[in-house]
Parts: sequence; C-alpha cells; structure tokens
Amino acid sequence: MGKVIKIAKHKCVCPVCEGNGYIRVSTGDTSLDFRDNSQVKQCFKCKSEGELEIEEPTIEELEAMGSNRLQ
Ligand SMILES: [Zn+2]
Repeated sequence: MGKVIKIAKHKCVCPVCEGNGYIRVSTGDTSLDFRDNSQVKQCFKCKSEGELEIEEPTIEELEAMGSNRLQ
C-alpha cells in the first residue's frame, strides 16, 4: 500500500571544522602566537565526525561545500 518515499541522504564535509572533527578556539591574541592562544575543541556541529549527514542540502550548506572546495 502506497509508495515508500526515500529520502536521499547526503554527506558533506562539516563546514564548521572543515572535516577535521575539531576546531581551534582562540583564547587570547592569536596574532601573537596562535597555538599558545587557542584551544582545540571537539566540533559541536558534527560531533567530531568531520562530516554531516544531511537529508536535504540547504542553500547555505551547498555554498559551504562550494567554498570548501576552493581551499
Ligand atoms: Zn565539524
């Protein structure tokens, strides 16, 4: 009975940590010494996975993927 609607699942590189799974948060003046004035934190967005599972990419996420490709 009825059709099963499949939701396409996509994976994209996490735009917050850029696939690293962690981010560096500045704790001081990073222009002096970035490593001494920043802390490594687990990425809150992807929960350290480095990539996000999205059911439907939003314009923002597509743009973020596009900008990642440029680097
Ligand atoms: Zn992330």
